Amino acid sequence: MAKKIVIAIDGYSSCGKSTFAKTIAKELGYIYIDSGAMYRAVTLYSMRKGYILNGIPDDNRITGALDRINIEFLYNPVSGEFETHLNSENVEREIRSIDVSSYVSPVSTIPQVRTKLVALQRQIGLSKGIVMDGRDIGTVVFPEAELKIFMTASVDIRAKRRYDELTGKGIVVDFEDVRQNIIARDITDENRDISPLRRADDAIILDNSRMTVEQQMEWVRGIIEKKINES
Ligand code: C5P
Repeated sequence: MAKKIVIAIDGYSSCGKSTFAKTIAKELGYIYIDSGAMYRAVTLYSMRKGYILNGIPDDNRITGALDRINIEFLYNPVSGEFETHLNSENVEREIRSIDVSSYVSPVSTIPQVRTKLVALQRQIGLSKGIVMDGRDIGTVVFPEAELKIFMTASVDIRAKRRYDELTGKGIVVDFEDVRQNIIARDITDENRDISPLRRADDAIILDNSRMTVEQQMEWVRGIIEKKINES
């Protein structure tokens, strides 16, 4: 039986990481983990509790609540996907809202939030055979991952993709708001003190601005095969 590896996919907001990661996981029979969904779930919990006021997270209250936040990914046979559950409630749709998107980057800068979620991510990764996407997977969560990919695409293309994804789900949004949100998240993610978004030295860059998912799959298949044989 082929050896199982860990595939870490990092990169900018809305450059198609999750679609790419999910497609790889499906093809290999691996588990896909959306680490961004975990940061989004903590943000949603904090919003509901009133721990984010005027866009500013109350670090102490959020940190104090971490033990009361339970995040799981449960399989939904209807959608055929794993969905994010926050304290046993399916929040998969709500965590994608523009409000959560606006506050998630500041919440993600809180050190205790990162410590908790990184521990959870590493625990899930123990089983190998996983594809995880995020911002610090190749640098912090799994520095030993056998394959690391760093994804990027132009801001306009990313904004268009996110806009199409949200409107496709029936969520009403303004294109310029989506674009500004992406720019703001890039800036916060790249400049935070703890585990900022950056390419791991051994990550392979994939600029998919002009690539379809199938073209990305064609590109990655040979690389995965090589990594599995090497490991
Ligand atoms: O991947 P997604 O866009 O859903 O992530 C939402 C936000 O969560 C990112 O903009 C980033 O601020 C944060 N995040 C993070 N570390 C990760 C994954 C996401 O800080 N590993």
